[in-house]
Amino acid sequence: MAYEDRFGQVQRPKYDCLLFDLDDTLYPLSSGLATSVLKNIQAFMIENLGIEESQIPSLCDLLYKNYGTTMAGLRAIGYDFDYDEYHSIVHGRLPYENLKPDPVLRSLLLSVPIPKIIFTNGDHIHAIKVLRRLGLEDCFESIICFETLNPVHKSVASDDEDDIAFLGSKPPPKRTEIFDIIAHFNKPNEEQSGLPKTPIVCKPSESAIEIALEIAKIDPRRTLFFEDSVRNIQSGKRIGLDTVLIGKSQRVKGADYALESIHNLREAIPELWEAEKPAEAKYSGVAVETSVIA
Ligand SMILES: [Mg+2]
Repeated sequence: MAYEDRFGQVQRPKYDCLLFDLDDTLYPLSSGLATSVLKNIQAFMIENLGIEESQIPSLCDLLYKNYGTTMAGLRAIGYDFDYDEYHSIVHGRLPYENLKPDPVLRSLLLSVPIPKIIFTNGDHIHAIKVLRRLGLEDCFESIICFETLNPVHKSVASDDEDDIAFLGSKPPPKRTEIFDIIAHFNKPNEEQSGLPKTPIVCKPSESAIEIALEIAKIDPRRTLFFEDSVRNIQSGKRIGLDTVLIGKSQRVKGADYALESIHNLREAIPELWEAEKPAEAKYSGVAVETSVIA
């Protein structure tokens, strides 16, 4: 949408793009999906990876803190699994029925004259299911999700040693080669060496956000990023995004705005519905009328 002031100067909105996290940003934490995700991740770790139940709480905590998602951490420390299977267990059994259509949010989003994009660590099927349940599936130009950032998602693990030699890759890690991250953090600081890297690209890694911006062809300086996660907000801020923390009424370091709920968008950031005023108009003391031309 273009704007023209009374001197015929074309103005444009302050932002070219609104980038939205999905879970706990477009619907409230009280829906209970996040609690179910956590339970399902723990079930996957016990049933599919054979991890001892007693280790789960500390392991989940360390992996989430150090790798952004438990999934990224599990891959880093040496577990190999099919990503689709992981997602089908973690997201496939969620209580989606708790999410209700949100016509108020829908009209709010549709009324903002700026393109909107979803940016989630979740998989595509999950994103679509959530957006459909909320009645928001037509509010976004595109979805950047797990598969967008991790396009080769099938495990390369093979029992056939010839295949491995042919591919020229290292043999897949065996169970005995799992990096003991709990023992690592139990050591005194001076004995801790580097942590293994994860092959998974996800928030809050700054490079994951940069890749997402590149894929969507958007300029961080002209993008407003909505998130419920403080660390994702802080990573976003470090690479130049303007940021809106959702679910909190107090701003934290790295957040330009804080909104208790996404529903407060119009009251908190009314400029999303306005064009940016040209520099000279800001200091002239003359009110500038703006008319919208479709
Ligand atoms: Mg979230």
